[in-house]
Amino acid sequence: MAFKPANNIQDLQYFGEFGGVNPSISDSSTYTFLSAKTMFDTFEGNADGCYLYSRHSSPSNLYLGEALAAMEGTETANVSASGMGAITPVIMQLCSAGDHIVSSRTIYGGTYAFFKNFTPKFNINTSFVDITKLDLVEAAITKNTKIIYCESVSNPLLEVADINGLAKIAKKHGLKLVVDNTFSPLSISPATLGADIVIHSLTKFINGSSDTVGGVVCGTQEFINDLRNVNDGASMLLGSTMDSLRAASILKNLRTLHIRMQQHSKNGLYLAEKFEADGLKTVYPGLKSHPSHELFKTMMNKDYGFGGMLTIDVGSIEKANELMELMQNNNLGYLAVSLGFYKTLFSAPGSSTSSEIPEEEQKEMGLSDGLIRFSIGLDADIERTYQMMHECMVKLNILN
Ligand code: PLP
Repeated sequence: MAFKPANNIQDLQYFGEFGGVNPSISDSSTYTFLSAKTMFDTFEGNADGCYLYSRHSSPSNLYLGEALAAMEGTETANVSASGMGAITPVIMQLCSAGDHIVSSRTIYGGTYAFFKNFTPKFNINTSFVDITKLDLVEAAITKNTKIIYCESVSNPLLEVADINGLAKIAKKHGLKLVVDNTFSPLSISPATLGADIVIHSLTKFINGSSDTVGGVVCGTQEFINDLRNVNDGASMLLGSTMDSLRAASILKNLRTLHIRMQQHSKNGLYLAEKFEADGLKTVYPGLKSHPSHELFKTMMNKDYGFGGMLTIDVGSIEKANELMELMQNNNLGYLAVSLGFYKTLFSAPGSSTSSEIPEEEQKEMGLSDGLIRFSIGLDADIERTYQMMHECMVKLNILN
């Protein structure tokens, strides 16, 4: 039977402390005990349903984690203060000094910088490969490799990972396949395709209101317990805990994710088709011209489309900047990094979210100066948006 991630969220039932339709928010950093023994047992992890201290766990964070695990089809999940606060502990938990990672070369700039500049301080080294070429991925594996790392749809080039294929390679070599699914929530469910660990920056589509940062790691109970272990758990000890008030507000936004993703995807496909027909170099997984269009179709949960992210290339950074400024002046969206907002957001990744990647490597991976990354908004009238964007492009001689 087809995997139905939004049903899994819908089917959870919560009641607040006083019968409220939303769970009560646990606005406390610490918890009292009627007996010292129960406190000890809780610390040891032997008192189910008791809370000790909110960096360890809190009811609000557990509710949100439970909903995200239901969405991804994993046993459980651990929420964190940011997407990077989810990614970095996973890597530090799975790798020790001397270990090796095979990573997609097109990933979020912060993750790239972590692998390239930070983990080598602990003698954890990464080979960056073209993730769409499974033979290159396998060839990069060494006896020290522990992880294959990728994004389902990559930031910013929108390369699509063959999660089934990568999972087979990971299994064959005894590795963990870690997938960042930030760009394609609901559309792609990596765990159902064989990923061991699924990560999101909740900052983006899942929260959807650009008012907080947040992250989550979805995985097995055993792995999440490891992350939370008071003695050697990377999430516990590195301490990137989400605040309870935020967890409660993200949970409320999560309930409309299915409707929002449908609209983001509808608008994304509409604009991508129009831009391509205009002759703009357009990348969108929903276009037949996308090299992984067919692959995406085999992996996707059909109700949610190809997502809200697209790129166009207008030739130079100067033109890209002019266009973005004009679009913002015409209230077509914001010149801003990040994604998943109700307004369209646009930025030139080469000089912003991917600036951690050296220029030469940007060129090699096809990240050109004139590339503009769009996170398409929830516009009710996307035809009007297109017409206004088209006028901006004509005015700047990007289109005739
Ligand atoms: N993963 C992806 C694909 C991202 O785009 C980002 C942020 O832009 C992150 C992870 C990091 O998330 P956060 O900014 O919430 O730490």
